Amino acid sequence: MATTVMQDDVTHGELSPQVLYDKCMALARNLWWSWQADVTNLFRELDPIRWRQLQHNPIALLSEFTPERLEMRASELVLYSRINQAYRRLKEYLTRNDTWAATNVGVLGSKPVAYFSAEFGMHESMPIYSGGLGVLSGDHIKSASGLGVPLVAIGLFYDQGYFKQLLDQDGYQREEYLDTKVENLPMEPALGDDGRQVTIHIDTRSGRLAAKVWLVRVGRVRLFLLDCDVEGNQPEDRQLTSRLYGGDHRTRIRQELVLGVGGMRALKALDIVPGVYHLNEGHSVFATLEAIRERMHDDGYTFDDALREVAQHTVFTTHTPVPAGHDRFDAALIEEHLGPLRDALEISHDQMMGLGRTDPHNHGESFCMTVLGLKLSRRANAVSALHGNVSRRMWHHLWPWRVEEEIPIGHITNGVHLPTWLAWQMRQLFDRQFPAGWFQLMGEPDVWQEVHRIDAGELWETHYALKNLLLSFVRRRVSRQCRRRGEPDEAVEAARSVLDPNVLTIGFARRFATYKRADLFAQDIDWLNALVNDPRRPVQFIVAGKAHPADEPGKQLIKKIANLRLDPRFAGKIVFIEDYDINVARHMVQGVDVWLNNPRRPLEASGTSGQKAVLNGGLNLSILDGWWAEAHDGTNGFAIGKGTQHVDDAITDARDADELRRVVDEQVVPLFYDRDVDGLPQGWIRMMKSSIGSLAWRFSAHRMVMDYARTAYLPAAGGSSCEMKVS
Ligand SMILES: *Cc1c(COP(=O)(O)O)cnc(C)c1O
Repeated sequence: MATTVMQDDVTHGELSPQVLYDKCMALARNLWWSWQADVTNLFRELDPIRWRQLQHNPIALLSEFTPERLEMRASELVLYSRINQAYRRLKEYLTRNDTWAATNVGVLGSKPVAYFSAEFGMHESMPIYSGGLGVLSGDHIKSASGLGVPLVAIGLFYDQGYFKQLLDQDGYQREEYLDTKVENLPMEPALGDDGRQVTIHIDTRSGRLAAKVWLVRVGRVRLFLLDCDVEGNQPEDRQLTSRLYGGDHRTRIRQELVLGVGGMRALKALDIVPGVYHLNEGHSVFATLEAIRERMHDDGYTFDDALREVAQHTVFTTHTPVPAGHDRFDAALIEEHLGPLRDALEISHDQMMGLGRTDPHNHGESFCMTVLGLKLSRRANAVSALHGNVSRRMWHHLWPWRVEEEIPIGHITNGVHLPTWLAWQMRQLFDRQFPAGWFQLMGEPDVWQEVHRIDAGELWETHYALKNLLLSFVRRRVSRQCRRRGEPDEAVEAARSVLDPNVLTIGFARRFATYKRADLFAQDIDWLNALVNDPRRPVQFIVAGKAHPADEPGKQLIKKIANLRLDPRFAGKIVFIEDYDINVARHMVQGVDVWLNNPRRPLEASGTSGQKAVLNGGLNLSILDGWWAEAHDGTNGFAIGKGTQHVDDAITDARDADELRRVVDEQVVPLFYDRDVDGLPQGWIRMMKSSIGSLAWRFSAHRMVMDYARTAYLPAAGGSSCEMKVS
């Protein structure tokens, strides 16, 4: 840890105010705290109201305290021993060496995996993510930390992050960008040999780009973030890394140049020699070109030998099942930005373009980052079994001499970081039933079978408590939204009593891209009215999600759903929560009865939010797409449709909407409201147990990272291997 050693032995639990303060700050400066319920609670208790107002940011909270005031507060609440204990646990965690990785993938030890991603979603207080890809990266590095897999991560620091979403009077999405204060984030300058913050440079044909490097501690993992806001950069380049996915193609290629090439240079400047490069999605794939340059320059390799060598050590993960979703750049942008690097690689412009083309000689073809990723990695993977099939078909033309089954793209299905997404109330219930130490084994199936022995009433009560927490959260948010829009006091007041904890609650939260079909449940308004207003067996909906600022159809979808509240039939029964982020996601996946997911198959590469619901006893109601296509077994949740699609989207959509209505009417509602004499839905609870028992371990990020370590990192590092699944 960067902080100085602090006195740990204390008499009578007393600490000097400064030591106490420093220990709290040390806890706040490693994101480890964010997946420790007891540490999170500790911060909250210091000042619950400010905690909420400050987006659960402990550094911002602590900076409002003087050591003396903190000490007073701690003595009122008798927090000394908890602070001491948390601090000791962090130190133990950071120095443990009896990890899963030490036993199973020990050879990775000497040279870490360098994990590149354009976004990292770790906690709501660190807004450098937009959605699924970022949360996946965050979960990946948290599990790598937990398992002891030696890994450093590389990303970009966006000081304005992704936008904050507000809906106006008409229900139309407005975007707001706020500057994040670096001093309130758990970031410190990454220091080079000379004790100064590392700055890297990249020459382009149109000038020089510089970026400084920050260090974020995520448990045992170090995450390095590049930031172009440095003196010496052109004014517009100082804003290059301000926003995620903002700007045009030129902004995009420049960001990707900084991430890939800049990221490699940062590692070099920090004296980190990776044994494996893991490129999470195409944004960072320029890293491979810089790795080739290094090999040629440092070790005297020819371009061809260096390329082979780099590919051997590179793992590439693709996430995009539609051809249009892959980054492509035209020849002029490539030459402007990679020209100087190309000179060093001693290849022609045509050769360079060829690396990003399926047909290297087709001058009409633009440069595709995914093509470069597939060509420059020996191991490539999709993120679910179905997505593996789709990807092999989509990229078959890169290997025209092979049959589809032999296209070298395997799959490792995504998973979620349990300690982050499992509610602590549910964790306590599991702790009572599961064998001691089970939390270290959360990626293994056996411990989870104990779930079947949990008392049905206890499981239901725990779920009901979490559902009530969600409802309080929703009411607070909805009334705040009304107040902000300047609605009358009665409306603000009415918002405080929306929803009913005894009503079957369906959650839907995701990006409002049109293929996710957020309005599928609202296509037949009469059916929806009958469903929501059924006198005996009603249903209510909680919806959230952002549309990309340039996605007009997505914004229209938001408007359609959000404005249902203006229809008296749906007021207080279908609510839209603004500004979907990790905080909203956590409340929703921990409290809903049913998690709805209805993308147009097969466009959802994996999806992970439904996996978060599983852990907390939520049941999935989903199209058989992404992870659900391999997860659903008939007893552990609900399937919409049979896993087929029509060539005509309109027909697919109409069919799926029919199926959704049928499954809700015939399966979901009856099972939920079928109660025994104690008021317990025994069949539903059985399904909750089956869901947790069969899915929690399989779709955990621990299992995912173990799969990467064994089937991708180990062979890429040159150790012995097991092969990745291909079908
Ligand atoms: C988990 C999560 C996602 C990804 O979920 P999908 O199932 O892929 O939609 C997106 N955004 C947030 C905030 C999340 O927590």
